[in-house]
Amino acid sequence: MIENNLNIQMVDLKSQYLKIKNQVDSAINGVLENTQFINGEHVKGFQSELANYMGVKHVITCANGTDALQIAMMGLGLKPGDEVITPSFTYIATTEVVALLGLKPVFVDCDPNTFNISIKEIEKAITSKTKAIVPVHLFGQSCDMKAILKIAKENELFVIEDNAQAIGSDYFGLAETKKTGTIGNVGCTSFFPSKNLGCYGDGGALMTNDDQLAEKLRMIANHGQSKRYYHDIVGCNSRLDNLQAAVLRIKLKELDSYILNRRKAADYYDQHLDGVEELSVPFRDDNSNHVFHQYTLKLNDKVNRDKLIRYLASKNIPAMVYYPVPAHQQKMFSSIPATFNTMNNTEWLSERVFSLPMHTELNTKQQNYIIDNILNFLKII
Ligand SMILES: *Cc1c(COP(=O)(O)O)cnc(C)c1O
Repeated sequence: MIENNLNIQMVDLKSQYLKIKNQVDSAINGVLENTQFINGEHVKGFQSELANYMGVKHVITCANGTDALQIAMMGLGLKPGDEVITPSFTYIATTEVVALLGLKPVFVDCDPNTFNISIKEIEKAITSKTKAIVPVHLFGQSCDMKAILKIAKENELFVIEDNAQAIGSDYFGLAETKKTGTIGNVGCTSFFPSKNLGCYGDGGALMTNDDQLAEKLRMIANHGQSKRYYHDIVGCNSRLDNLQAAVLRIKLKELDSYILNRRKAADYYDQHLDGVEELSVPFRDDNSNHVFHQYTLKLNDKVNRDKLIRYLASKNIPAMVYYPVPAHQQKMFSSIPATFNTMNNTEWLSERVFSLPMHTELNTKQQNYIIDNILNFLKII
């Protein structure tokens, strides 16, 4: 067995860069030459190219995915005390902005198969103060948006999609196929380097089909400004810079092939790990095509997860736990009003999941080595 020289990483951004190096270097040099660092041509170009790719009317870029969520909640006019339903099994940003704006996070358990927010638990969590639901398309697969839209309509709630992990994923559950992030009132995404469409620093975007909301979101991201030096509402300063937009325009053209590579890698893992008694491979929902931001396995109660991760590390194989502490158990929420019901699935998953290396450059030699070592470990415990 080949040891050591496979250079296996959770995400291999260097090899990915080398394949588009000429284009990227020349685009970056172009920006350096014309010094249009803020609101340059690439920002405008990228916004319209992404809107076109997503099949949505408006894309508003901003500084990062966390800001996108905050701007969405501000744009929808949510007020302190309003309740916002979010999953607890998610990256902290989803829930953090709710608290930051003085809104009340209402955490809801997830489905143990898809890892996404549980529809039944959403229904139980709605009160007269509920104003919005934030479904997170976790690890690259769509939530049950048909059911969520129905609940939102019946209860007059906004739907803010956290699409940071699923950009490019299609949802088939409605009459018309739609991209995740374009289904609710507003979608939010992140261009953090390791995301499926990542830039070389921070970046984010909002998207919506609502003209009025789009205008408001654009204003909020730009100091609440309607025209230069006239500030109508309280906003913030949240911009995608032109260098990042230049990189994103190039990577957007590659996004579909990046997704195919991720899916191919996921299929290969599935082929060799499905049926292994001690673990379950990622569940694939027929209503969505998974874009595998993460390839996340569930271990059964017999496997010692820490030991497995340490064993893999000793073989130079990284593996990560997304996420070890669910939002409702984070210290940051212990001192603010936040509520939750039962969290059995979320708590069980946070102790049993682990994610394998997953990226656009993963090759079968690396995957064979990873798979062999997992199987070796399971035999020796
Ligand atoms: C990455 C991520 C965010 C935040 O994006 P940033 O650009 O890092 O601020 C929000 N929600 C989810 C689910 C994420 O994975």
